[in-house]
Amino acid sequence: MKESAPPADLFSRRRERFFAEIGDDAVALVFAPPERLFGHDTTYRYRPEPDFTYLTGFGEPDSVALFDGKKKQFVLFVRPKDRERETWEGRRAGPKGAVAFFGASRAYPLAELEKRLGEMVRPAGTLFHGFGLHPEADRTVIGLLSQFRREARHAHRGPGRIVDVTSVLHEMRLRKEPAEVEILARSCAIAAKAHREAQAAARPGRFEFEVEAVLMRRFLAEGATGASYHSIVASGENATILHYVENSRRIEANDLVLVDAGCEYLGYASDITRTFPASGQFTKPQKRLNGIVLAALKAGTAKVRAGLAFEGVDRAAKEVLVDGLVDAGLLKGRAKTLLASKKYEKFTLHRTSHWLGLDVHDRGRYASRDGSSRALEPGMVLTVEPGLYVRPDEKNVPAEYLGIGIRVEDDVVVTDGDPRVLTEGAPKEA
Ligand code: CA
Repeated sequence: MKESAPPADLFSRRRERFFAEIGDDAVALVFAPPERLFGHDTTYRYRPEPDFTYLTGFGEPDSVALFDGKKKQFVLFVRPKDRERETWEGRRAGPKGAVAFFGASRAYPLAELEKRLGEMVRPAGTLFHGFGLHPEADRTVIGLLSQFRREARHAHRGPGRIVDVTSVLHEMRLRKEPAEVEILARSCAIAAKAHREAQAAARPGRFEFEVEAVLMRRFLAEGATGASYHSIVASGENATILHYVENSRRIEANDLVLVDAGCEYLGYASDITRTFPASGQFTKPQKRLNGIVLAALKAGTAKVRAGLAFEGVDRAAKEVLVDGLVDAGLLKGRAKTLLASKKYEKFTLHRTSHWLGLDVHDRGRYASRDGSSRALEPGMVLTVEPGLYVRPDEKNVPAEYLGIGIRVEDDVVVTDGDPRVLTEGAPKEA
């Protein structure tokens, strides 16, 4: 089954929650940036701005949404209909379409933004805007604020308070409702299928880019827009480079192949990593490190429970990794001391989890203002991705481990009970 958009009521429910968060005396602005140039006269394929589509379902570039907390209505400023431009560049909804299909109470061409914005924002006590996201948006808002300052004699001098809109939006995005989790599950199922095919294709003698092509083919054939980040197909020593994306090497007989790839489906990102022997058979040192990483994944996943700290996932995984590093002779000393001194970091390199959603590294805070880790809540989705890397030039380690990089990554939903792993469809055992 292929759908082209999430259900429309998802967006109206989000707007209701958003209005409740910003309150009656506020106006919020959310911007979709313009297209960016790729070369001198073509553009990158436009990726709809997640914050913008989250509330509106509208995916065109160069659009502005204004949310009026008093009226509980939203207004869209969009690209106008233009027969010639649309013939060259693709369809536009235009203001009429923005009202008819996206639930805006009114919509105007973008060119009218400057003229209309002042009167719409002026009565509000608080303006929600995310400074530092898009320079075009910041220029518009700063222009508006300086206009208010110049109008010293006006009875309403514009909002006295400015609040970062992402402090509301990104917290909302962090807690997925069931309909979103199901879209994420589909994104993960497509990516898992792609990983199965990639594992079959990654034989000695094949090139890494051939494996990437297999992944991409599956993503597109299942209705995903493409990869949710550059696919990593790292054979041999390349697996010790965390974001290796050249994908240009020929896979050799005793190589491990690390594939870190996910797709974007209806806007939602999946993010899966698997590491497997190209020949189907681990060497002894590969098998040993792989066993440690799988045990760490299990320990981390067990901590994905409502009420537990986000950081606990990383801690549980790191404890297993450090024990394993000591057993394997890669670290010397007591595990407890090593954990405290962080001496293991040269082999683990990164943290175990990040949020997952519309962005592959989804938005939302990881810690409270006082620095303490936040508690997991049902509907949050995160990756669990422990890894071990022995870089080829690492000193004072048994030579048999040099150049081995292993990461295994699942996408996991926090529920009221047991963690729900969305990426089981991609095999982890060789
Ligand atoms: Ca990841």
